[in-house]
Amino acid sequence: MMRLTPDDAALLAPGLLAKAERGERLNHAEVTALYHLPLPDVAAVAHSLRLKRSDPDTVTFLIDRNINYTNVCNVGCNFCAFYRTKRQKDSYTLDYEQVSAKIIELEAVGGSRILMQGGVNPELPLEYYTGLLRHVKAHHKGIRIEAFSPEEVLFMEKQFGLDLDTLLDTLIAAGLDGLPGAGGEILEDDVRAKAAPARIRSADWFRILDAAQRKGLYTISTMVIGFGETYAQRASHLLKIRDQQDKALRDYGHGFAGFAMWSLQTEHTRLAGKAPGASAHEYLQQLSIARIALDNQPNIQASWPAQGFKVAQAALYYGASDLGSTMLEENVVSAAGGGGRHSATIRELVRIAHDAGYKPAIRNSYFHILRYPDVNEVLGLGLGAELEEERAVGAGA
Ligand code: SF4
Repeated sequence: MMRLTPDDAALLAPGLLAKAERGERLNHAEVTALYHLPLPDVAAVAHSLRLKRSDPDTVTFLIDRNINYTNVCNVGCNFCAFYRTKRQKDSYTLDYEQVSAKIIELEAVGGSRILMQGGVNPELPLEYYTGLLRHVKAHHKGIRIEAFSPEEVLFMEKQFGLDLDTLLDTLIAAGLDGLPGAGGEILEDDVRAKAAPARIRSADWFRILDAAQRKGLYTISTMVIGFGETYAQRASHLLKIRDQQDKALRDYGHGFAGFAMWSLQTEHTRLAGKAPGASAHEYLQQLSIARIALDNQPNIQASWPAQGFKVAQAALYYGASDLGSTMLEENVVSAAGGGGRHSATIRELVRIAHDAGYKPAIRNSYFHILRYPDVNEVLGLGLGAELEEERAVGAGA
């Protein structure tokens, strides 16, 4: 792999941003060079591409709930503050009624999707997973189930002695609608080996998501920065995601529905004080570069759980077109610190989008708009009326 110095990057700069702005595909050296350019210049190109590749007036989000059905896990990632061993007093596995109670709360606020993931719990039989899916489908008709990260699927393959096709067919028959692409982190195995020696390797991550896409399941791609990875490794991660998206679109007619990127949180983990994490500047830089590099992905999310609402709002001018989801009950990122919030209300996400100058829209998993909330109603009638008037005057000036 070619190593790029800041001087090399400076030489590439004049034509590079113009090429990116035209929407032309960048190679690995060119994507790596973007990290050495001034962020405002890179962000301007990213925002211009965001306006072309997704609805320029709208910022979307989804009403959903995270459900972590168990926190027992035998993978033991160094960056994880969520998992417990089965002997720890606060370890748990939810029964189906407990899962249902959480979904009823989601249904009450008009939610349409659960994102259900756990630790890798060696005590659970295959029937727990299939029974859980069947239970949710039987009792919550309008709810999509996107569940089980590639790490959990890899575990099930080994634990239950099933080949991947048979396993996915079994889960789909029980009610699975999609696989979240969690566990992407940095898809370079030397970075993964340091952060989590037992973690799923990149080839398995792609193998499992490719099979899911082949079977028509919803998938999403992810990235986490801040392990101490190099710019070249970040660029490699993005280009591997882009290659898989090309393949899936060509061979299956659909690929990753969106791209979500956040920064590593290390509080209460074994990486605390040992991994650099990422500042707001670095996060916004990475987001901008992702928008430029992922020329086959229109839907790019801002991460408020890791970066907080204010940085997420700024991200809407650094390439992001979506605020992710309400995530009622996010446990994994928040256990390791995060932006201080475990969930967002509809009002908060509407406010972020509206105040940034966009029309907020509630979407489904595939980023199709379900409805436009009435901003005045959601934010409270009369709230900020004078401000609205002032803005309207400003907009016309
Ligand atoms: S990140 Fe997931 S796989 Fe790793 S220890 Fe935590 S729960 Fe287990």
